[in-house]
Amino acid sequence: MDMNYSLLINGRKVIGEQGSFSVINPATGSALGECPAASAGQLEEAIAAASTAFATWQYTPESNITEMMNAIADKIEAHADELARIITLEQGKPLGLAQIEVGASAAWTRATAAMTLPVKTIEDSENRLIELHRKPLGVIGSITPWNWPLMIAIWHIVPAIRTRNTLVIKPSSFTPFNTLRLVELINEVLPAGVVNVVTGERDIGNTITGHPTLRKVVFTGSTPTGQTIMRNAASNLKRLTLELGGNDAGIVLPGTDLEKIAPAIFQTAFLNMGQTCAALKRLYVHESQYEEMCQRLSSIAKSQVVGSGLDEGVTFGPIQNKKQFDLVCTLVDDARESGARILTGGAPLNGPGYFYPPTIVADARDGMRLVNEEQFGPVLPVIRYTDLEDAITQANASESALGGSVWGNDIELASQIALRFECGTAWVNNHAEVLPHCPFGGCKMSGFGLEFGEEGLLEYTAPQLLNINRN
Ligand code: NAD
Repeated sequence: MDMNYSLLINGRKVIGEQGSFSVINPATGSALGECPAASAGQLEEAIAAASTAFATWQYTPESNITEMMNAIADKIEAHADELARIITLEQGKPLGLAQIEVGASAAWTRATAAMTLPVKTIEDSENRLIELHRKPLGVIGSITPWNWPLMIAIWHIVPAIRTRNTLVIKPSSFTPFNTLRLVELINEVLPAGVVNVVTGERDIGNTITGHPTLRKVVFTGSTPTGQTIMRNAASNLKRLTLELGGNDAGIVLPGTDLEKIAPAIFQTAFLNMGQTCAALKRLYVHESQYEEMCQRLSSIAKSQVVGSGLDEGVTFGPIQNKKQFDLVCTLVDDARESGARILTGGAPLNGPGYFYPPTIVADARDGMRLVNEEQFGPVLPVIRYTDLEDAITQANASESALGGSVWGNDIELASQIALRFECGTAWVNNHAEVLPHCPFGGCKMSGFGLEFGEEGLLEYTAPQLLNINRN
């Protein structure tokens, strides 16, 4: 497949003035293609185009916006195979999962198109009429990571345009091609300048987040980058949505039907090879069921077919990049040296490519790096507990606070414990499920601001009160 994609600025496809950079296929470790690199001047052009487009886009009638967003969803569906193949080639996930990502992107676009933010009447009396309106912010900057690259681009773009903002998006340099293609398709529908895409790394990122024209930055990525963005954004008091790293805990209550839940736990811990912000990343299991749970998870792990995402029958792809691959190797080696038992996996497969098999680590303890740090990869540490209160304390001890889950037959007890988690989403007998109508976001060092649902849309608007004197 020829990876020949362009930047898109003011409705025009343009080559990168800063040359290009190689994008690596994680299944082979070699270059997949050259991606155009944007210059600082091209970023300025993109922001200027978004600013000019905003002058008219902000008054677009609601029905036209809905129609255009549905047309974007149609385009995504019409190019689903192409988009899925690009994702697999640059991100690594099995093609079936990439197809799910594309399908969900189209569905999310339609669901967001159908949402409304009606004017709220606060007072309607003899003396006055007071209404709360919601207005767009202006030009939005979007910065995305490499794990669910198309899905997260959609999560940033569609609420922004639904609420009549314009946008400049910068994808991760590990996975830029699918976003370049997506924005090309979007520009077949929208007026020029409404959605623009540039590429680049830290320098371009810093210019976006410090730029005086931008009114908001929506960022999904690591906590340290989120902290840098927050500092830069202070220059003109940009609004921020920061969806950062997670280290979600799951607690299995004593007496739980393990046969039923083990496959679901495996699925939510190893979703996208564990490279999911709200994957289950630490599992606490009561001592009475500890060995059985470890064995069940190991046998599911052993049944996975690891290989290139394009190959038939493969259920488990590579880690997306060398840095993440090295981190996973380091954390597992550290756990082993600290006395943990590696039940399955535990060592990289012979190259080429960044293949690491699904790994279950027993006798993991709080204090081990694998438990305390976000692994963001195909490894699950399983921690034994005796006292449920201790497990809850340990779950909440992390500075990461995106999600958490409680698994058990007693739904009432599980719900009570779930509500004691200090995190943005608490699941019962599930984990990592996100839905277009449900707000999602983190607490503590996992960031702030919400995405999805009405709350998610509100984040792209400024309130304006209209106060009419009737006397
Ligand atoms: P990252 O922070 O390294 O990179 C994310 C993006 O930020 C990339 O586009 C990168 O080019 C850009 N960037 C780098 N330096 C920048 C700077 N100084 N200014 C502006 N932008 C800059 O993160 P990553 O490695 O791509 O993603 C993995 C992390 O993202 C994990 O911690 C994961 O948990 C988190 N994540 C969170 C969510 C969520 O919804 N909370 C979702 C997915 C991933």
